[in-house]
Amino acid sequence: MTSRHDRLAEMGLAPVWRLRQRPSPAAEKPSARGWVELKQAVPGCTACGLHKSRTQTVFGVGDEQADWMLVGEAPGAEEDRLGEPFVGQAGKLLDNMLAAIDLKRGENVYIANVLKCRPPANRNPEADEVAKCTPFLKEQISLIKPKLIIAMGRFAAQTLLASDASIASLRGRVYRYEGVPLIVTYHPAYLLRSLPDKAKSWADLVFAKKTMQTL
Ligand code: SF4
Repeated sequence: MTSRHDRLAEMGLAPVWRLRQRPSPAAEKPSARGWVELKQAVPGCTACGLHKSRTQTVFGVGDEQADWMLVGEAPGAEEDRLGEPFVGQAGKLLDNMLAAIDLKRGENVYIANVLKCRPPANRNPEADEVAKCTPFLKEQISLIKPKLIIAMGRFAAQTLLASDASIASLRGRVYRYEGVPLIVTYHPAYLLRSLPDKAKSWADLVFAKKTMQTL
């Protein structure tokens, strides 16, 4: 049986999801600072314990006026070493996913993670780390003003939608984050381990492209 939420979502009236309330002190005070100040602030951030084990922060990369913004979880070993998000095998898969919908890294696309520092041994991000780092992502989004956000993986989706729901249950609908339409799909690193979900991810990208055409 279809729930009220599902029916509303089908009619494009899904509820507006809000960011979880930030505990204080957060990583950075909310401000209307620009790219230069933000890029200077992130590398020196010590707001959570991850600063102790990072090689460097991984800020994000791409077109700062992009229509598309992709948000992942956190840097891995290669990203920590190179300072760029989505390099290595997951990065290659992401590039292929982008190409499938006629997009290219750096051209009308911006890619960032929820966390700017690598969790040791690629462990899952902790709630406190996510809460401390999310203000940076929020600032990136407000500077880019993308037309559409794709949240890749459970942590990005749950953080931006303030939800504990699974990716499987969040897929296939348009949500909003700070007024920006948002679609959920699987994280490329997960897809490398779970080939059957690649087809679902493809469907999500087609859905995202169709949604973009309406924006
Ligand atoms: Fe700061 Fe984010 Fe790195 Fe934590 S993960 S130290 S909040 S930049």
